[in-house]
Amino acid sequence: MTKTIAVVNQKGGVGKTTTTLNLATAFSTIGKKILVIDFDPQGNATTGLGFTEKKSIVGSYETLIGEVDPQYAYHRTLIPNLYLMPASLHLSGAEIELVGLQNREKLLATVIKKIHLFDYIFIDCPPSLGLLTLNALVAADQVLVPLQCEFYALEGLSQILYTLGQVRKTFNSRLTLQGVVLTMFDSRSSLSTQVAHDVRYHLKDKVYETKIPRNVRVAEAPSFGKPAVVYDYRCSGSQAYLQLAREILTQEGKLAA
Ligand code: ATP
Ligand code: MG
Repeated sequence: MTKTIAVVNQKGGVGKTTTTLNLATAFSTIGKKILVIDFDPQGNATTGLGFTEKKSIVGSYETLIGEVDPQYAYHRTLIPNLYLMPASLHLSGAEIELVGLQNREKLLATVIKKIHLFDYIFIDCPPSLGLLTLNALVAADQVLVPLQCEFYALEGLSQILYTLGQVRKTFNSRLTLQGVVLTMFDSRSSLSTQVAHDVRYHLKDKVYETKIPRNVRVAEAPSFGKPAVVYDYRCSGSQAYLQLAREILTQEGKLAA
């Protein structure tokens, strides 16, 4: 059975793409077969996996509009067991183009139902709760929320939880919150610590124990077309992502505690 995880936060720059790529890579190293769907017109997950030619590439947009069969819309990456359905340049127009279509919120779910090869599918979402993110939520089994410990974080989080509830009621009753992961955490900042405390107070064990620290090697990795866990396996950010992968798989009963 494939498990589909949408990585969602309408706030920009909170670590969605970084979390998608590093977690996906960490899962692939333990032999899981993984597909990353780049569903953000910015195409950062595509670039971050070393795909730079976005004009001619076939990916999520082409399969979403039915132009290409899903099996031809994903590509092997340099990482064994990790495949990418990239964001081509055309995805930028999708939010507007899709508005007029019937079943516009179910297009990605229909695509994903035709893909059977993978243990996990990660969907890297854009920084909005628009039609693309709605498609991801309708297609997903679980939602993973990367959260940067800043002043507005809790406000943003309640908006995501509200949307999740609405999608569950209307389109996708199996959708659950997998968890919240605290990103770019700075233990020296009292604001970081306070926000982390508040998020845990509200969401209890839905917040992962593992926090991802701010780490310069993690920020450098995309410019080399590699996830941090491949670029520098030993750095604190990579180690945290590997630990997060263990925590999630342990929670799912797929690894011994
Ligand atoms: P967007 O909303 O634009 O899609 P995002 O939520 O996907 O952004 P990322 O692109 O993953 O966020 O991260 C934003 C920036 O922060 C990037 O430049 C990334 O390299 C950097 N970054 C992410 N995580 C870390 C970290 N743990 N330490 C240092 N820099 C990080
Ligand atoms: Mg991103």
